[in-house]
Amino acid sequence: MAKPEKLSAVKGMNDILPAESARWEWLEAQVRELMARFAYRNVRTPIVEHTQLFVRGIGEVTDIVEKEMYSFEDKLNGERLTLRPEGTASLVRATIENNLLYDGGKRMWYMGPMFRHERPQRGRYRQFHQIGAEALGFAGPDVDAELIMLAVSLWKQLGLTQWRLEINSLGQPEERQAHRQALIAYLEQHQDVMDEEAKRRMYSNPLRVLDTKNPAMQEMVNGAPRLLDFLGEGSLAHFDGLKAILDANGVPWTVNPRLVRGLDYYNLTVFEFITDMLGSQGTICAGGRYDYLIEQVGGKSAPAVGWALGVERVLELVKELGTDIPAPTLHAYAIVPDVAAMPVALRTLQQLREAGVRVQMHAASAEGMGSMKSQFKKADASGAHFALIFGSDELQQGLVTVKSLRDGAGQQVQQALADAAQWAATLQSAV
Ligand code: ATP
Ligand code: MG
Repeated sequence: MAKPEKLSAVKGMNDILPAESARWEWLEAQVRELMARFAYRNVRTPIVEHTQLFVRGIGEVTDIVEKEMYSFEDKLNGERLTLRPEGTASLVRATIENNLLYDGGKRMWYMGPMFRHERPQRGRYRQFHQIGAEALGFAGPDVDAELIMLAVSLWKQLGLTQWRLEINSLGQPEERQAHRQALIAYLEQHQDVMDEEAKRRMYSNPLRVLDTKNPAMQEMVNGAPRLLDFLGEGSLAHFDGLKAILDANGVPWTVNPRLVRGLDYYNLTVFEFITDMLGSQGTICAGGRYDYLIEQVGGKSAPAVGWALGVERVLELVKELGTDIPAPTLHAYAIVPDVAAMPVALRTLQQLREAGVRVQMHAASAEGMGSMKSQFKKADASGAHFALIFGSDELQQGLVTVKSLRDGAGQQVQQALADAAQWAATLQSAV
């Protein structure tokens, strides 16, 4: 038989292996706890949605909808479907469909994989993970501030110090409209320094032209009319309200008047948490207000605000800063010299596990259990603090030997098999 061809993961989509997953689980546990403290409830939506949801929700002339979506036709019924590129549109769809806002605002959070067909590089993948927090049905800057402070609490919890917060206000649609006209007029005057992409976007999404990373366009962009100068009283009051709460809480911020965001649906507050430690993919968390999205997706008009963080980028920063992750510790390793002892050994291990002990069993191979020496070697390599030795002499007396492999290595005591639940705690407390 010909050797089957080796298969590999899809480009830009990563396995998260045991060496990494402890870090992921640690982050997820911190997030779960923190969301509970801020009274945000978890939501899990499907990974596949109707393509139309994202076209309507995110906006037709955005990077995501124009070129990054994994869309396909359902072979059975011809429906146009898409692997979700972000979480907000799905959450809004679920909120509308299940009438979640009938008795007032809701605070919710999600986590999971997202899919975008981008050029893979450090901090940019085709399957990546986001954790998002969204508050639907609340209009005031107090909730914008709450969400930002939730993120700040998370950074603190994760030991992340190297970040800055940039904020901006995109105002309301009519203010944007006035600014848009002034901006297009300005861009029309400066087409000589604009690249092809900017020219293409000039009429469809001129605000995004300001977001360009092209150095040759920076001077032109710096002189462009600023949206902030077009904001009315209400928008300014909202922005000032947010700043006042951040100030009162010692959260440092800077206004970046050119901060727009890649999704079309934002208004008023937008913000990003950025780090300088991850090269050019430095935005670890981004969000803002989207008071018109719910209506746009077919719901009854309601204000909303939220953010999403990139899990891979946050974990990269955790690694970069050398934060200590509590390693999953193994309490004990079971050494079984003779396969005949297996039934009794396993019964004891089961009792220990039910009492909370983490214990790895030495498994038999085709040749049997292996020598004591090789079993001890495995026990040492496992990182366990104790070896449990199920030798036949001890077993006959209803005993098992507990030998220390770490502190005071070599010390050993014998324990009764019958009351494993009694001495289980001594295995855990030494760790
Ligand atoms: P960028 O400007 O980096 O492309 P974006 O504006 O497209 O980001 P959002 O849609 O706001 O990003 O997503 C929120 C966060 O999700 C980002 O700040 C980033 O941390 C993370 N993120 C977005 N796209 C990717 C990706 N392809 N790979 C890894 N993380 C990503
Ligand atoms: Mg992007």
